[in-house]
Amino acid sequence: MTDSCAFCGSTRPLTREHVFGQWVSKIGLDLSPVRHIAGPLNGVPRDMGEQPPYRQTVKDFCSSCNNGWMSRLEDTARRVLSPIILGEPGAISTQDQPVIAVWAQKTALTAMLLSSKEQRSRGYGLPKSVYTMFYDCQSRMEPLGGSRFWVGQYEGKLGFAAIHVTPLAVRIPGIAELDRPQCYAVTIVLGKLALHGLVFTTPALEIDVTMSLGIPQIWPPQGPVRWPTGQPCTEAMFQHLANGKMLGSAVESVELQPWTPAIDLPRSVIVDGKVHVPALCGKHSYCYPAVILAEALRGRFYAFATGCACPQAYLIQTEADAAHCKAIGAAEGISDMYEALPGTEVVIHEEAGLFVCKRLPVVPAG
Ligand SMILES: [Zn+2]
Ligand SMILES: [Zn+2]
Ligand SMILES: [Zn+2]
Repeated sequence: MTDSCAFCGSTRPLTREHVFGQWVSKIGLDLSPVRHIAGPLNGVPRDMGEQPPYRQTVKDFCSSCNNGWMSRLEDTARRVLSPIILGEPGAISTQDQPVIAVWAQKTALTAMLLSSKEQRSRGYGLPKSVYTMFYDCQSRMEPLGGSRFWVGQYEGKLGFAAIHVTPLAVRIPGIAELDRPQCYAVTIVLGKLALHGLVFTTPALEIDVTMSLGIPQIWPPQGPVRWPTGQPCTEAMFQHLANGKMLGSAVESVELQPWTPAIDLPRSVIVDGKVHVPALCGKHSYCYPAVILAEALRGRFYAFATGCACPQAYLIQTEADAAHCKAIGAAEGISDMYEALPGTEVVIHEEAGLFVCKRLPVVPAG
């Protein structure tokens, strides 16, 4: 199989492209080396490492995309967004608003390619068709059909940068949600700039939405936006915004909610082949072999008992693609609950020793 450009499908040699255009590193914003995370798509954040995100690159685009339309988008973004990122007064003209919306969508799609091909083949990431559809739309300088974008000011820690893509589901109460999300909330924070958007990947399910953070819409454009403007997004509000919880359905009897498998999960990181998950106590974390997570992505689930220094014992079960804490308490009680679970015990040999868990029987859906 030959590699082809994620956007136009060309099989010309692929070139490296920065997730954020290199101009971001040159405008004088001091992005401190904090942990950068692209996520929480499908529940497991992908660690972008402890470096400013403008150094991250992906090699998924051909040179004609890279040096053509993508580079023109970066030019406009640099001109329009530089003052805003630095917190200086500025404006986004009605004419520039579609370009900024397309840029935000391109940046989010690029960031989601930071996951490996293997991770993507296991369901992490956006469907390939979204990239092809977007390539078509950008030639008309439009984001994907049914998209909405807003622009606001971020009031949290200086030098913070993040890209989050959260899958959302459109549903009618009482009817089970589909096995795939139908739209995505996109959040980009760079310095003082907070861009938020909603992107539909299932055009038939486009609905009118409400946005509870009081910031101006730039797509579809509603008139010029002067900067600074709108209700500031604080550090505390950021996670709420990024999880798509400030968006709602404007259609009666239809709900717009985060796609259940993707949120309300503890933030986990993968270090040295182990998944580290914050424990319910809020002070410690526990870990389990990454192979258990890989198994969960294939629909095979496990249970194990673990503990923290509190001391507190936990009964953990993997579901869909995350680990859920089923019980918390004294070690004895937790171990009794573990013993009582059906399934076959499995011992995983790790460098640090043995990891004992139970492969749970497959429960028929429904
Ligand atoms: Zn291309
Ligand atoms: Zn970050
Ligand atoms: Zn603890």
